[in-house]
Amino acid sequence: IVQPAERMAGLPEQFFAKLVGKANARIAQGRDVINLGQGNPDRPTPPHIVAKLQEAAANPLYHKYPPFSGYSFLKEAVALRYKEDYGVELDPATEVAILFGGKTGLVEISQCLLNPGDICLVPDPGYPDYWSGVALAGASMSFMPLREENGFLPDLKAIPRDVADKAKLMFMNYPNNPTGAVATPAFYEECVSFARENSVVMASDFAYGAIGFDGKRPVSFLQTPGAKEVGVEFYTLSKSYNMAGWRVGFALGNANVVALINLIQDHYYCSLFGGIQEAAALALSGPQDCVSELNEVYESRRDALYEALAEIGWRAEKPGGSFFCWLPVPEGYTSERFADKLLQEADVVVAPGVGFGSNGEGYVRLGLLSDENRLREAIARIGRLGLFC
Ligand code: PLP
Repeated sequence: IVQPAERMAGLPEQFFAKLVGKANARIAQGRDVINLGQGNPDRPTPPHIVAKLQEAAANPLYHKYPPFSGYSFLKEAVALRYKEDYGVELDPATEVAILFGGKTGLVEISQCLLNPGDICLVPDPGYPDYWSGVALAGASMSFMPLREENGFLPDLKAIPRDVADKAKLMFMNYPNNPTGAVATPAFYEECVSFARENSVVMASDFAYGAIGFDGKRPVSFLQTPGAKEVGVEFYTLSKSYNMAGWRVGFALGNANVVALINLIQDHYYCSLFGGIQEAAALALSGPQDCVSELNEVYESRRDALYEALAEIGWRAEKPGGSFFCWLPVPEGYTSERFADKLLQEADVVVAPGVGFGSNGEGYVRLGLLSDENRLREAIARIGRLGLFC
């Protein structure tokens, strides 16, 4: 009786579910597995945010349906954060949509803007959720290779004319998952020009916006002159405030895109639980030292990991942001075969690069989501396999 609709066939396999399955099988055998493969923050939400939710949960107003598109106090709080952190002015009423995590917006924007036959420009390697929305919209993807020699930024001049003509949407993601690359203001200026010349909406995924190293704060796309005319930025509390389980994100910027996303959300959901919105507003408008402390934690983990990598002779560029390290696999291995070897012989889980697109082949992604001792231990175990010199 159950026949999936044709559009379901375009949905990619949940690559990371497979990874978790393999790691769990090893753990079930009693092995001490170090999981550097997933992107789940390991630290708890700051206590003042949790306390606010506990208090707000008792408010009977929040036991009713929340208003469509969410409470204005949360939209005002995120607008204030953008003003303070990036000097960007946002109208909370028209330029902010509240999302169930950035993920929902990344899928919905394709449904809002793409028709069958349209093209969406997608980074390769890139976060697989961009593919899902495009598939559900019945549109097609054109992959923009991210190459090390270009600092993992796409070469917009290399996009063929016929592709640019059919393109209606482009995703970009800096600080980048999986490569750890950061964008420059010049790149974002190029994106605004490309968007204007080709009528392509820009979707900047800024999930790792709060995590930048070596004293450099990542730039927001919305800081670029003209950005709001051509696109939106997806912002989330998942990584910056260790709130991945709370599912709070935003689409910010272009009012027409924000209105479309709000409309589609109004049909799927009302909005987040009011208590979560209140606690999220406190996260954004309250003390921000938790964000800078977290940044320091990731930076010192990164440095500890790269010291350990140097000791075993595994050479790679350090990431400029995000909590991911993108490392080349040794000669003779595919990324999947290498990741399997590390799991079977070193009890270390890493994400094979090919899971992020065909240009991810030749790399694996390691997350800085364990403490420094565990990170060092993982690399020491890999070193004992004698694959690097
Ligand atoms: N974008 C990227 C690049 C991510 O890595 C993630 C989560 O891992 C997300 C978006 C989604 O974040 P959220 O938890 O806000 O849905």
